[in-house]
Amino acid sequence: MKTTGKVTGIIANLVTVEVDGPVAQNEICFIELGGVKMMAEVIKVNGNKASVQVYESTRGLQIGDKVEFQGYMLEATLGPGLLSSNYDGLQNNLATMEGVFLKRGEYTKPLDEEKIWDFTPIAEAGQQVVAADWLGEVKEGWLPHKIMVPFSFAGTYTVKQVAPAGQYKITDTIATLTNADGEEVKVTMVQKWPVKVAIGGYQEKPRPFKVMETGVRTIDTLNPIAEGGTGFIPGPFGCGKTVLQHALAEQADADIIIMAACGERANEVVEIFTEFPELKDKHTGRSLMERTIIICNTSNMPVAAREASVYTAMTLGEYYRAMGMKVLLLADSTSRWAQALREMSNRLEELPGQDGFPVDLSAIISNFYARAGYVKLNNGESGSITFIGTVSPAGGNLKEPVTESTKKAARCFYGLSQNRADKKRYPAVDPVDSYSKYLEYPEIIEYLDQKIEKGWVDKVTKTKFIIRRGKDAYEQINILGDDGVPMSYHEQYWKSELIDFVILQQDAFDDIDGSTPLERQKFMLDLVLGICDRSFKFKDFEECTTYFKGLINTCRQMNYSLYQSEQFNKYLNQLKEELNHE
Ligand code: ADP
Ligand code: MG
Repeated sequence: MKTTGKVTGIIANLVTVEVDGPVAQNEICFIELGGVKMMAEVIKVNGNKASVQVYESTRGLQIGDKVEFQGYMLEATLGPGLLSSNYDGLQNNLATMEGVFLKRGEYTKPLDEEKIWDFTPIAEAGQQVVAADWLGEVKEGWLPHKIMVPFSFAGTYTVKQVAPAGQYKITDTIATLTNADGEEVKVTMVQKWPVKVAIGGYQEKPRPFKVMETGVRTIDTLNPIAEGGTGFIPGPFGCGKTVLQHALAEQADADIIIMAACGERANEVVEIFTEFPELKDKHTGRSLMERTIIICNTSNMPVAAREASVYTAMTLGEYYRAMGMKVLLLADSTSRWAQALREMSNRLEELPGQDGFPVDLSAIISNFYARAGYVKLNNGESGSITFIGTVSPAGGNLKEPVTESTKKAARCFYGLSQNRADKKRYPAVDPVDSYSKYLEYPEIIEYLDQKIEKGWVDKVTKTKFIIRRGKDAYEQINILGDDGVPMSYHEQYWKSELIDFVILQQDAFDDIDGSTPLERQKFMLDLVLGICDRSFKFKDFEECTTYFKGLINTCRQMNYSLYQSEQFNKYLNQLKEELNHE
């Protein structure tokens, strides 16, 4: 018997319900309104009163309307066919633009149940298996999609039979397992999992020890992100958060991209649907969408759905990680999610924390970031979720609660500066304030020693020092005037500008400059640091300025030329000549 209830109060999306039986925290229920059933989630229970947040507009809802509790939590449907999908936070399929404007109470099936998949068995009869072990495989596009023992299965099972290679629908039985009591259970290609619970089923979760190449120089060279690591991009409106995330999606060394888009404005939702399918996979030249899933809040959905989006996105990420894939999870912007939490908390009349956010905001954000990571699977393979979220602090104030809480949770900080964006110095990542804590991990330092060259991190530290010194020199010049400071200040300033223009600034929209492989990043950094190591004897600051402007120009031409091409080498030779002409 399902627990039922009656609506007793309505404050926007928060509805109070008198219930006739047990209900659980986070349980899903449906509220009947004019023949449709609207999905809602229990967020507070007190005696026979439950507070539920409705994922739809509650317009027209009345006291006394019927509620039916479902006995399960908000779940994601997991199986082949997720890739290339556009979903909303409740995993409604938004395959068409009409989907963006689903009617109230309309829910679609997340996966195509008619589609036929070519299945190949992996497990064999007699084998002992546990949750998340691989039973077989289908090709999802060109990626191997593992069919696993459902994550909800507890204990050890024995494989009775795995279906022979052949064509199956996701709902067909592909394996029969027997549990410890000798009971048989059938496994299909599709399973469900509650989105707010982390998927386990792996051996261990070591600290990240590899770097994930992104092709973005200010990240890879200066503040690298680890595979399985976490980072965040705070920045005021219009400073380049979305452009940077799209560049990461296109270029990062990941198998699967999952993009949770909690749009800032309604038209951004439409933009992501039109832009993303056009993005090219920089590694294969194919459409990026083939290995991407977009979770997007539709404009007609209330804020509550934003919360569901980020959790659904993380759950899909964990699903692919369990298959041994490298997942890059992007969320733009997590501030919208935090605002949803704030709205609900306020309506529940909870004691507010700073700026009206829930008191446990920090814990909620930390727990979410903690679901990312590099894992060692039971079969010795590995998988990872690298998570990068954007934060849009109101008025660019980095002291606000969402930014502060995220700072505690994420290991990399890519702060976008309004000042740099105003000067069109893109990406506007502030080279002084930003950091990657991974550069302090001995295992990462060692990895970079092997991957790039011994002592690489020392070079990075030196580069940051030159940038900071240049900034100080710039301030002195500004106060004391061009002639009021020693020549060395001008030289220091221009050396930092050289790093800024050649290494940090990068045109995301240029085919060559947009993505820089590590080998090339090393070459350019060595080149620029080589120049910074020289000391020059300029007769006045004007000569210094002209000289460095020339060098910057030549180096920038190199950035726009294919690495080691004839053109590239031409500029390299030109640079060598310029350097001989001191
Ligand atoms: P936000 O998401 O922070 O509001 P956007 O990512 O939409 O900002 O960026 C705003 C604009 O800044 C873009 O439309 C683009 O013109 C410019 N821009 C941002 N980053 C870059 C970049 N790396 N290269 C070139 N232009 C950029
Ligand atoms: Mg944006």
